[in-house]
Amino acid sequence: MKIKFARLQNFRNVAFAEIDLDADSVWICGANAQGKTNLLEALGLLAAARSFRTSDISALVKKGEKSAAALFGARTEEAGDSEILIEISKTRKISVDGAEIGRLGDFIGRFPALPMTSEDVKILRGSPETRRRDVDMFISGIDPEYFDALRRYHSALGHRNALLRAEETADELYSPFEIQMARAAETVSQKRRERLAQMAQIAGERYARLARGNGEGAEIEMKPSSEAEGCEDFREMLARERAGDIERRATRKGPHRDDFPVRIGGLDAKTYASEGQQRSAALAIKLAQFEIFKAEKGTEPAILCDDILGELDAARRAAFWECVPPSAQVISTATSDAPDCAARKSWKTVRVENGKYFS
Ligand code: ATP
Ligand code: MG
Repeated sequence: MKIKFARLQNFRNVAFAEIDLDADSVWICGANAQGKTNLLEALGLLAAARSFRTSDISALVKKGEKSAAALFGARTEEAGDSEILIEISKTRKISVDGAEIGRLGDFIGRFPALPMTSEDVKILRGSPETRRRDVDMFISGIDPEYFDALRRYHSALGHRNALLRAEETADELYSPFEIQMARAAETVSQKRRERLAQMAQIAGERYARLARGNGEGAEIEMKPSSEAEGCEDFREMLARERAGDIERRATRKGPHRDDFPVRIGGLDAKTYASEGQQRSAALAIKLAQFEIFKAEKGTEPAILCDDILGELDAARRAAFWECVPPSAQVISTATSDAPDCAARKSWKTVRVENGKYFS
């Protein structure tokens, strides 16, 4: 996908801006707190209409205003040129070429944009929830069946938790929801397992390239911690756990609680990896997501880099750019005026000052 332009209204610190992004390499530069990440965050909405910074969508609306709007022009192999409008107030509304999209599932993955931000290290050192959110978003973008199974699982989980909170004990009340959960859990956990293995394998290769034979063990592992796999396993598990779940008033086991800690060279990255190693591994995982998306959907996501290379040494920075195919669009923010990048030559520069963009 190539993003051609963005028009923002009352978005974060931007009152109104029209930004031309029609180039394969775009460098968004400016001092701190001017609106670089805000623009990238807006572009990131193309992936799944959610912010890579916050789950509170109303934070995107300019202070003092009631609603925000972001219009994007994009070209994909599949749909050609499209205009995508995302309107945000307390909720969000998505339209593509004037037609409103009712279901998020019909939008995710159509306009692939892959943010790479300093927050990505949370995949390694953040909570299990952060890891799940990232991986769930990614797999949902390439596999609508996964998104659907996840949705069905969470819907049944909500019903089961309501029964637990009401301290209901009758089996016939729980059974229908537990069956629905178990069916969906089978799909979710199998697909997760497969995708995590694929992601870890490619991330390991990318990590080795970033580390440039630094003698670092490059093997990356991401394995789900739960043992249940098949539908029957999940049903039995839910039935077995029910009494304890009623006491705690919550469903304590299942894909919604699963974790897949990242291990580098056999060691838990959260505990053992250095800052640079963690950042490199997070980038490697994002580069792996890029490759998998491309292989699966036949289209390259636009890469949105939010000042990510600052923490890496010069060799790792150069290796990063070599891992990004020249055909992919890269939109990158930084405080420095010029990119330090031999792999990509002609950058379009957009300067940011107090929510205004100059190219
Ligand atoms: P840095 O180099 O420090 O990362 P940046 O250019 O990426 O800076 P942004 O994160 O884009 O900075 O934020 C720019 C400004 O937008 C900040 O001053 C921030 O306080 C402001 N801002 C954030 N959300 C809103 C909002 N909802 N309404 C108004 N201003 C906001
Ligand atoms: Mg920023």
